[in-house]
Amino acid sequence: MRILVTNDDGIFSPGIKALARAMAELGEVVVVAPDIEQSAVGHGITLRRPLRFKHTASAGLEPIPAYRVDGTPADCVVLGVHLKGPFDLVVSGINLGVNLGLDITSSGTVAGAMEAVSLGIPAVAVSLDTVRMEELDFTHAARAALRVARWVAEHGLPKKVLLNVNVPAGRPKGFRVVGLVERYFEDQVIERKDPAGVPYYWIAGEPTRSAEPGTDLWAIEEGYVAVTPVNLDFADRALMPALKGELEGPCAA
Ligand code: MN
Repeated sequence: MRILVTNDDGIFSPGIKALARAMAELGEVVVVAPDIEQSAVGHGITLRRPLRFKHTASAGLEPIPAYRVDGTPADCVVLGVHLKGPFDLVVSGINLGVNLGLDITSSGTVAGAMEAVSLGIPAVAVSLDTVRMEELDFTHAARAALRVARWVAEHGLPKKVLLNVNVPAGRPKGFRVVGLVERYFEDQVIERKDPAGVPYYWIAGEPTRSAEPGTDLWAIEEGYVAVTPVNLDFADRALMPALKGELEGPCAA
């Protein structure tokens, strides 16, 4: 089996090293990742400038082949699949920091998995609660990623579905299959002044950390690995009948 490993923290992140080594137990791994950090770039694709695809021995992944791209995680998946594919599985991470709830819409880590799914390849995104770690340790997250990836390799995933995996700091108590938390960040906009006295802004946030049971936030708060199946069929079928009745019909002349 052939596995493409990507991330959004960049090819020199320790997280991708841990993930690539873990995935090598499952099959033949190729790493294609951004040359610099691309966190929170979402599912951006670079269409207005050319992209470079460079073999990168200095990523320290030998003998696993590694390539860096001066683009987004989604760019990496598109180029990786076209230039080094086909792949049976794409795994993105291990992200430094969790991707919970609607983080999945801005996360570059999850976008790598989304791009894979849109290309018809099963995909898993893996993120780790590094904020609460005293020292970076990917041991448990790599093990969790391998367990989930092995399950996907054996069972496959439905079309348009990816698995979003979040790993707590420390040794996990086990696994929980959970939904997405509704809201865990209180957005803040912080105003400062530049040397000329002109205001500028930081978008920041405070985690609320009050988790509904059955959500991804709740699972990692309780010390479990959170596994969430995410469906990319965004169309809201429940609202369709009511809308059809109201909106369908000929346009006025
Ligand atoms: Mn990141």
